[in-house]
Amino acid sequence: MNAPHVMAPLVEVDHVSRRFVRRLNYAERIAGWLGARAEEQIVHAVDDVSLTVHRGEVVGLVGESGCGKSTLGRMLAGIVAPSSGSIRTIEKTAEPSPGSEHGAQRTPRHRLATQMIFQDPLSSLNPRKRVRDIIGEAPLVHGIVERKQLDAYVVDVMERVGLNPDFRTRFPHQFSGGQRQRVGIGRALAVKPDFLICDESIAALDVSIQAQIINLFMQLRRDLGLTYLFISHDLGVVEHISDRVAIMYLGRIVETAPTVELFANPQHPYTIALLAQVPRLSNRKRQFESIQGEIPSPLAPPDGCHFHPRCPHATQRCRTERPLLHPSGLAHQVACHLVEVQ
Ligand code: SF4
Repeated sequence: MNAPHVMAPLVEVDHVSRRFVRRLNYAERIAGWLGARAEEQIVHAVDDVSLTVHRGEVVGLVGESGCGKSTLGRMLAGIVAPSSGSIRTIEKTAEPSPGSEHGAQRTPRHRLATQMIFQDPLSSLNPRKRVRDIIGEAPLVHGIVERKQLDAYVVDVMERVGLNPDFRTRFPHQFSGGQRQRVGIGRALAVKPDFLICDESIAALDVSIQAQIINLFMQLRRDLGLTYLFISHDLGVVEHISDRVAIMYLGRIVETAPTVELFANPQHPYTIALLAQVPRLSNRKRQFESIQGEIPSPLAPPDGCHFHPRCPHATQRCRTERPLLHPSGLAHQVACHLVEVQ
């Protein structure tokens, strides 16, 4: 996948963290009143992440379940506010404008410019609304289209995402899984976004349908100049569609590089272990070994390098000192004490 030539930043994520408090349940509160030790716990879902997404780029965000990639995506979409740090959306021709920073009030334009496409198309669509209303409601409410032009507008959007416009009076349950995902994509496109965040958007689909939806995403990128954050646990898909890949582990980005570079020259032990599990024609006869150990709980992430309990190269320093992302080649950054700064 070739990156566009002009790569101005579109979104800048600056030292963003997100913590969730796990409140005590009723039994725990009673136990606390009776003198037992019961404290609220904090989930460190995203831990001091910085990332820039450039206009027209496809960034793949990869990691195991629970690593915080969906929470990061939701913060970028404005669904979840960061606990600390800032996310800045940069307009096409100007400096970051007032209200473009999350935490401050976001304008309707900023909210519409970033749209999210979810994993489960059925539960993300209102089952009581016809597709015509699902796609047409937001552009009508936000003044993107007038009521008398709405039907033609919905027909246009449906054709763009490969849906038969004759089905616009149907309900979501009357479509197949792949068609429902196209409805979700159409709903997002209807408000003319710049940036699509796809959170495991093809994971629930059959393999042949996955290929069709990926092709649709790439067609839309060419036609509309869209930017994507593609969140997935599937490195094979991410390699196929991304310009750049960021690897997340337990709330932190541990490695980021252009896709070709990352797959040819992975440097972080976690990335190396993940890539070793991607099936390829060249290694189809070998036994695949999973990464040793379980991903630690985000309620109590390990000190130092979060990966150290599972890392075969961990040293004493890794147990106490957090490795920061540092340059390790052209556009390549790694957070590991063993990888030298280049
Ligand atoms: Fe392994 Fe240490 Fe590098 Fe972490 S910093 S990945 S524990 S070698």
